Amino acid sequence: MTRIANFCPTCGKALVRRRHSGRERPYCLNCQAPIYFDPKVAVVVFLERNDEVLLIRRAVDPGKGKWALPAGFVDYDEAPEEAAARETLEETSLQVRIDKLLEVFPRKDDGLADIVIAYSASILSGEPCAGDDADEVGWFSRDSLPPLVFYPSITLTARWRAGQLET
Ligand SMILES: [Zn+2]
Repeated sequence: MTRIANFCPTCGKALVRRRHSGRERPYCLNCQAPIYFDPKVAVVVFLERNDEVLLIRRAVDPGKGKWALPAGFVDYDEAPEEAAARETLEETSLQVRIDKLLEVFPRKDDGLADIVIAYSASILSGEPCAGDDADEVGWFSRDSLPPLVFYPSITLTARWRAGQLET
């Protein structure tokens, strides 16, 4: 999946490819400037309670019908921790406190993000109720995990199942 635009964000003219700063980049002949496209950043939240992990079922593709940790994109003007709490609220109706940075994942599959920041969190209030990109929310024990999608969710859940995740 590419998010490199064909037109200059500043002047709207078509971009060309030109070697600049050590690699070929989109370049605007009108602005006489390279255009730098940034990685798309997402957050994912690992919530554990009573030896169970909170998962959401994806209502849309990619991964429709499969399960994943609550996750979503960081807005351009948003702190990652804020995005993590916001996305969890949108997908699960739970108010959470972000506790700890678990890992930063590079892109490993055809998920929607280039960089995924994973946090552990604790529930402050609310009852799980699916919303936004999720059509189901559930707590799962290590022995009852459903089919999962996306590398960060698969990796963190597998570590947790093996007793190797410090949340
Ligand atoms: Zn331009």
